Amino acid sequence: MATIFSRIVAGEIPCYKVAEDDKFFAFLDINPLVKGHTLVIPKQEVDYLFDLSDEDLAAMQVFAKHVAAAIKRAFPCIKVGQAVLGLEVPHAHIHLIPMQSEKDMLFSNPKLKLSDEEFREIADAIRAAL
Ligand code: 5GP
Repeated sequence: MATIFSRIVAGEIPCYKVAEDDKFFAFLDINPLVKGHTLVIPKQEVDYLFDLSDEDLAAMQVFAKHVAAAIKRAFPCIKVGQAVLGLEVPHAHIHLIPMQSEKDMLFSNPKLKLSDEEFREIADAIRAAL
């Protein structure tokens, strides 16, 4: 059965898309730690990030680099932090999180509740900065 993230890539489940190429896809995390919290995934269905081939892992990191640059332009921050957990969704993903301090990377923090309009505006702003 397809993972929830594969169903997002296929358009079966809606998302706030940020970027896409033939191999990778970026969209807003639905439970963001901060505004701009984005997930980068491979279209290939792999659970564990480090099971990707060397080539795909490197290409995914380059894709994430471009998305991170756009996040930083759209949401000025000290740095965009990167985290890999994968404890909830068994489809490899990188979290990109604009940081004002290290506390912004704490996954135990309460998540933001954003409206549909707010999510749209965030995704539009990042896309426009790509
Ligand atoms: P992890 O697997 O890295 O522990 O957490 C998975 C992340 O995916 C969480 O931050 C969660 O909010 C996000 N997530 C889970 N399901 C969905 C979904 O259907 N859509 C979006 N946009 N994000 C999701």
